[in-house]
Amino acid sequence: MIPQIKKILYATDLSKNSSYAFLYATDMAKRHGAKIVIIHVMEPVPSYAEVYAGITDEMKRKQKDEAVESLKKHLQEFCKKAEAQIGPPCVELVSKILVPLGHPPEEILNAADKESCDVIIVGSHGKGFLAHTFLGSVSNAVLHRARKPVFIIPLPVEKISIDWDGI
Ligand code: AMP
Repeated sequence: MIPQIKKILYATDLSKNSSYAFLYATDMAKRHGAKIVIIHVMEPVPSYAEVYAGITDEMKRKQKDEAVESLKKHLQEFCKKAEAQIGPPCVELVSKILVPLGHPPEEILNAADKESCDVIIVGSHGKGFLAHTFLGSVSNAVLHRARKPVFIIPLPVEKISIDWDGI
């Protein structure tokens, strides 16, 4: 029997490509009656740079809170546009927003296990510098190491009806 899809891990670096991938996450969630866990991994600043720039734990906590707030705002704006195209619900499909600090592929794979997600959705590319390659480094690492189905969503060549720019 094919396992059911009840929880979807959707990873975003807030790039246009990962934003587009959210449409697939919402569509899949609707079809399967599933919930979406959003993960945005913050990459740590090297410790020497922290010392040099005088970054304190308090500043890091604040930065994390700001990232969560920014994600929530993105989600609201995002869903308004998505609902106009594919209908409601959208915001209600999201059960959790995770903003861990660490190495993106590692944190995405850990979250998939810890949150018992059934599938992982990522964009084929993100904000990385590998736009000319078949896959970005995060999507490539997740695809090769995941023990769950991974859906890798490319950004279509043609202009898409939802303009994610400026979100
Ligand atoms: P990349 O491999 O960096 O080109 O990014 C490919 C995809 O991996 C993006 O479209 C996102 O879905 C995901 N991704 C990249 N970086 C992160 C991150 N810091 N946190 C969560 N997801 C990410």
